[in-house]
Amino acid sequence: MKVKLKKCAVCKAKFQPFNSLTKVCSPKCALELVSQNKKKKARKDKLEYRKENKKISEWIAEAQVSINTYVRLRDIDNPCISCDKPANQDPNEWDAGHYRSRGSAPHLRFNLDNNHKQCKHCNRYLSGNIVEYRPRLIKRIGLEKVEAIETNNAYKKFDRVYCERVKRIFNKKARILKKRHDSRN
Ligand SMILES: [Zn+2]
Ligand SMILES: [Zn+2]
Repeated sequence: MKVKLKKCAVCKAKFQPFNSLTKVCSPKCALELVSQNKKKKARKDKLEYRKENKKISEWIAEAQVSINTYVRLRDIDNPCISCDKPANQDPNEWDAGHYRSRGSAPHLRFNLDNNHKQCKHCNRYLSGNIVEYRPRLIKRIGLEKVEAIETNNAYKKFDRVYCERVKRIFNKKARILKKRHDSRN
């Protein structure tokens, strides 16, 4: 019985395979396939190497990006936490801003009570506009939680496993929120 015609994995031409394991039409395409696979493996090794050798600061930065994206989506309908600038859908106008800054309270960098959507002006040019942040934060999450943030000085160390988990969880949460908002519009 003749084996069915196949599409060559390299040049995509139809050919009559020698047996069911044949993937390519000719010795020339066979060599090309070997070279393609080598390149693919090299690319994969490089990614793997990069992942293995990423510094903890890079893991933390990536986790922060994920959590900040989530915070902006969570607060999409809220005004700026510091100046009441009304919500709009332009992502270029908004940051996620920490109440206690990442510099002075790095252990609260992933704390969701400590992180809210903020206009870029307040976040970048008014150093977070913290004096105005506080009363609005109290309105939003209650005095008790605000005081809990203000008195929280528990030492916390974030390792790679923790950061990977933060990334995974908040990328997923952000995807779900984004879908919900997109279907609403
Ligand atoms: Zn071929
Ligand atoms: Zn603002």
